[in-house]
Amino acid sequence: MTPTSSRQEFIFAGGHRVGKLAQDLFPGGTEIEHDPKNFDGMIETTRQLIDQGADVIYEATFKSRNVLIRADILVRNGDTWDLYEVKASTSVKPQHKPDAAIQWYVIKDHLLLDRAHIVHVNNDYVFNGELDITQWLAIEDITDEVLELQAGLDQNLESMNAMLSQGEPDIPIGPQCDDPYECDFKAYCWQDVPSPSVFNLYRMNGSKKFKLYHEGKISYADVCGEKLTKTQQLQVDSALAREVYIDREAIRAFVDSVVYPINFLDFETFNSAIPKFPGQKPYRTAIPFQYSLHVLHADGEIEHREFLADEHRDPRAEIAQKLAEDITAEGSIVAFSQATEKSIIRRLAAESAEHEQTLIAMDDRFIDLLIPFQQLMYYHPDFNGSFSIKSVLPAMFPDDAALDYKALDIQAGDMASMIYADLDRVDDDSERQKIRASLLEYCKLDTLAMVMIWQELGKIAEIS
Ligand code: SF4
Repeated sequence: MTPTSSRQEFIFAGGHRVGKLAQDLFPGGTEIEHDPKNFDGMIETTRQLIDQGADVIYEATFKSRNVLIRADILVRNGDTWDLYEVKASTSVKPQHKPDAAIQWYVIKDHLLLDRAHIVHVNNDYVFNGELDITQWLAIEDITDEVLELQAGLDQNLESMNAMLSQGEPDIPIGPQCDDPYECDFKAYCWQDVPSPSVFNLYRMNGSKKFKLYHEGKISYADVCGEKLTKTQQLQVDSALAREVYIDREAIRAFVDSVVYPINFLDFETFNSAIPKFPGQKPYRTAIPFQYSLHVLHADGEIEHREFLADEHRDPRAEIAQKLAEDITAEGSIVAFSQATEKSIIRRLAAESAEHEQTLIAMDDRFIDLLIPFQQLMYYHPDFNGSFSIKSVLPAMFPDDAALDYKALDIQAGDMASMIYADLDRVDDDSERQKIRASLLEYCKLDTLAMVMIWQELGKIAEIS
């Protein structure tokens, strides 16, 4: 994986790794290699393994009634077989059951099946330095649900086959386009939805958005007469008039509340399915591995400090120490949406006896740069109902190439997190250094963005 791999590719690779590790629940099996040019060969190899008396098969491949499936793990159980489908989620989700049901539907034409299970990540598991697969993964028996679902499958498959033999189905867009996953056809089906539209309205619930959409109220002009919240109304008015809204008094009070030197701070963390460090729980313990810090002094001088952990070591002790050294002893600490930064520092304090007091003392010094935007002291029509730094920055500085996230290899925090979580698996040193440089560049822009936004608010506050 590289910084230019897509978000989907990272998610897929993470799921694949969980699937591979889950095979150790039933060791000694044989995996059917994926060969997209030869599905018949995969089916034949599966058949041969069964005939030869294999007890465990990974990615067993079968076809029946025009449906091809690959079962994650098949385990012989006397004269019958048990099916295990592996999911990287932390529980059995509703969509997992039809998935297992279709596997059962196909396999039962070839083998006698006994039980169907979902294997998923147990997020209560606490890593102690060595991954215990039997504790890290949980197995749930869903045989009853899978059997119940068999009844409707013939008809479902028939209607799907009928649909495939006809033209494009005429189904309007709806909540199904994003739930449970974003649909691959969204760019096509949503091509006529203008931007901005009712779907950009701040914190409007999904069913209300679709109700308005299906009533033909799609653009901001269409929703003018609707009952909207204060933020939604400002969003619509500002977009239609193409005007920036400024509450100068409120901005002035906000700017005056900040104390120099100002520490603009941003962390990156990773939080993966497969824990790496002692005390870490799958998906539940966010491990901070990087920060960027711009310090703005009262005389206008700006310093930049940063930390990016060695990808092979637990970063927590080192990041706590470096942070205690880098944050100035006095002055405000500014974060954009401060809850994340504050909770990371509290956790680091709890884990670091040496720096506990220094880190705890930082808590009261935080100021949230999100407040001027979330509390509507400043609203730009191009925010489009989003107050994330990725929306605020380009709206306030549309022509500044140095502030363009799109020019970076890494453009979002979740990508930085997924890339770092995989970095210790990159063998090529020069490639690893390139990725580290991209991570530093990305995090640095997050805090530089805060400095620029802060200075802009300062200029607004100064106008009398
Ligand atoms: S985007 Fe996907 S789910 Fe939505 S209407 Fe199109 S095909 Fe259906």
